[in-house]
Amino acid sequence: MFFLHAATDAWYTANSLLAPSHLLLIRVSTATAAVAALLAAAPTSVRAQSAAPPMSTTNLPANAVAANRAKECPSCATWNAAQQPFRVFGNTWFVGTHGLSALLVTSPNGHILVDGGLPESAPLIAANVAALGFRMQDVKLIVNSHDHHDHAGGIAQLQQLSGARVVASAPSARVLMRGDSESDDPQFGGTLPFPKVRDVEVIRNNQIVRAGDNVITARFTGGHTPGGTSWSWLSCENALCLDIVYADSQTPISADDFFYTRSKTYATGVRDFKNGFRVLEQVRCAILVTPHPDASNLWQRVAQRDSGQTNALIDSSACQRYAQAARQRLATRLATEKSGRK
Ligand SMILES: [Zn+2]
Repeated sequence: MFFLHAATDAWYTANSLLAPSHLLLIRVSTATAAVAALLAAAPTSVRAQSAAPPMSTTNLPANAVAANRAKECPSCATWNAAQQPFRVFGNTWFVGTHGLSALLVTSPNGHILVDGGLPESAPLIAANVAALGFRMQDVKLIVNSHDHHDHAGGIAQLQQLSGARVVASAPSARVLMRGDSESDDPQFGGTLPFPKVRDVEVIRNNQIVRAGDNVITARFTGGHTPGGTSWSWLSCENALCLDIVYADSQTPISADDFFYTRSKTYATGVRDFKNGFRVLEQVRCAILVTPHPDASNLWQRVAQRDSGQTNALIDSSACQRYAQAARQRLATRLATEKSGRK
């Protein structure tokens, strides 16, 4: 687990997003030790799976494993950069890495974890949860935006650490349990496998799922993948309650031989995108967070908040604008396909 040591206390302090009083409580090494203890206490099969790198490189030295990983996923190391956890609003906390979001929605009777990052993000997410003073064992529900390795890869280990229930749309549930995309994925052929998730429960569109005192609503917004799901919930801080929307990726990225306009493996791709755009344009939305934080300018907004603009994360038109930008991108993509330039 060499990646756990990439972040130093100095880095965390320099990039502090928490109030100074919290800083006194948080040392990366302490949180890391807590996760190491959790892993050590897990059954042997869990340790074996947790320690295994995504590809079968079990007997290679750490630097060879890192080199292999860099080759199969050039962006992974950057995405997996450590990030100090921080409060988004009320009981919603950012516990992901710097390049991949994961949110923790807490309650006295159990928490919800939204997304699991890469396989190698799981220890960082667990350490962030611990650093905030919460326990992985209190995570009762894990949900996912879409079933690619960079958002679903860490779920298997996080499920093992918490014992949480995992729920997903039917197409996503299949992929999560298979640990690999299926032929209906627009990126099929170029996606990376990830550790299989056990016992994923299938949910319906608009289903409300409960965990502890929290409720979270699934909003199917496919297109990027067949099972893509956005999630929304209410978080309160003092007397103010805000709708938080974790809107899934809306990019029509695909393998070279996939065409949204005439796909036989994913014939409803365009319709799914358009339905999803309508959902995101209409959903009550005060704070938007996306699986890739940059896709909704999270770091810029957090920096503004830290510099004194207390409401910088709040924007009731953010989901609409996110959907409208995606509409544009899809229109461009479809026009390119029709013109034969793709
Ligand atoms: Zn993706």
